Amino acid sequence: MKKILESSDKNEIDCGSCVSKGCTSCSTSNSNSENHDPTLFTRRNFGHTVLAASAGLFLAGCGRSKTTPVIGTEGKVDSVAAAAVSPIVTLPKGPILTVLSEFYKMGPGPSSSHTMGPMRITYDFYQRLTKLPADQLTRATALKVHLFGSLSATGKGHGTDRASLAGLLGKSPAECPPQFLDDLATNPDKSYPLTIGPKTLNLTLKDIIFDETKGNFHHPNTMTCELLAGTEKIYELEYYSVGGGFIEWKGYTIPEKGQPKYPYEHANELKKYLIDDKIPLGKLLLENELAISGKSEKEVREFLDQVAEVMIRGVDTGLKVESVLPGPIKLQSKAAEMFRNLKNTNKGAAGKAITQVASYGFAMGEENARGHIIVTAPTAGSAGIIPAVLKSLRDLNISREKIHEGFLAAAAIGYLCKHNATLSGAEGGCQAEVGVGSSMGAAMIAQALGEGPKVVSNAAESALEHHLGMTCDPVAGYVQVPCIERCAYGAVKAWTAYCIASEENPEERRVDLDTTISAMALTAKEMNSKYKETSEGGLAVSVVLC
Ligand code: SF4
Repeated sequence: MKKILESSDKNEIDCGSCVSKGCTSCSTSNSNSENHDPTLFTRRNFGHTVLAASAGLFLAGCGRSKTTPVIGTEGKVDSVAAAAVSPIVTLPKGPILTVLSEFYKMGPGPSSSHTMGPMRITYDFYQRLTKLPADQLTRATALKVHLFGSLSATGKGHGTDRASLAGLLGKSPAECPPQFLDDLATNPDKSYPLTIGPKTLNLTLKDIIFDETKGNFHHPNTMTCELLAGTEKIYELEYYSVGGGFIEWKGYTIPEKGQPKYPYEHANELKKYLIDDKIPLGKLLLENELAISGKSEKEVREFLDQVAEVMIRGVDTGLKVESVLPGPIKLQSKAAEMFRNLKNTNKGAAGKAITQVASYGFAMGEENARGHIIVTAPTAGSAGIIPAVLKSLRDLNISREKIHEGFLAAAAIGYLCKHNATLSGAEGGCQAEVGVGSSMGAAMIAQALGEGPKVVSNAAESALEHHLGMTCDPVAGYVQVPCIERCAYGAVKAWTAYCIASEENPEERRVDLDTTISAMALTAKEMNSKYKETSEGGLAVSVVLC
């Protein structure tokens, strides 16, 4: 594996310091969060950053790029631009240290860096304000947020302003109701009261200011949050939405992590512990999570309950709402109608089951497109798959503990793919997003239904294998076509993979998970950059929008 990665595209890129964390819109978890370096930034942000070229190039240390990114087309995934930087640049540097809270991130879609990150930032600022002394708060007259660089250039189309205002108003990214975000979008002049301690301020979208797009910013996605008394800044903090929903701020230091009880980089190492130590997979993954995160088992389980709740809420909302999705495609939602028609279907058991799972995938994919709250699993663009799998497991009355085990197994697959290949459409095409999501889903089903580790691993392998080579070519740069339907397919294929893996003799499967992850990395490396979330190839140039 390392060999493949290390040989990666010397012709295309001169440096290894860019860490691509994937789509800003559909994207991804930080592809290197355990080695999170504030001086690294995303490939797609690199595209944006040509606006802030000097700063961006300095930060990335990149020698050159292959294309000249095109920036600032409002509402686009950011896309058009970023074919430039490297394919796979993240080299494994030791055991996997990713934890659940880094992987399953909650916040508004459709962009992890332009909506999820900003909302997490302003919510963080809101929480800091609640801890200020009363005398400072009493003097306050206004709250302002300034968006810089790419956030300013493309933020309007992404809904950065409403996401930022929602967080500033104390709406938690995990719990903000979709109606509230819709209300912000449809009533741009409405004033919302915010009470902090002794002070009440009235905030509007105008308090989120689209500021300079070019400048010597510390990061391409820079924001400042200010509490003002007249023109005096009582309290301010500069923040960075660094990709994948991750946030940092001036003076940020990387949180310390513990060491895993069972260190592993590859699936085969994981398997060895299961055999040698005779420990169940769910227990091993939980013990690693506790050791690395330092959290208690209760905290971890509560977090997983919250993830499940957000996912189920998203699916249930998506199954009820019918609307034309935002953006130029004018895509009509399908989930609600598919689900409604299930009652009178004559498709037989197979047709009914497939339609049901697909409608769940559509529901959450459409919620992402609406800018409502989603969970990255592994990315925003692929965020419909695991909720669809979860909902279908809930239909089977699977216990809370088994669902938790399923989430842990799914995360382990995501970690392996992240560590040894990529989770980013901008690096590896859609195989890295929907392919990994489907693979995670297959593992989740197998684990939650009580299969042994071999079946879990085989199911994950099978789902990933049958997404190899899948390109990323979102039409008009929006995370809608093909992304939403792919979530439906990803969920159905997760079930297919599980059904195959649970019926075959597990010892007779000829391809193992590590091999397929390695194949994905190789395919990603060799994939033409047109098919890596640039909207320069495939469907994106074939579909004509009227
Ligand atoms: S095509 Fe796949 S990888 Fe590309 S934006 Fe859509 S979901 Fe993400």
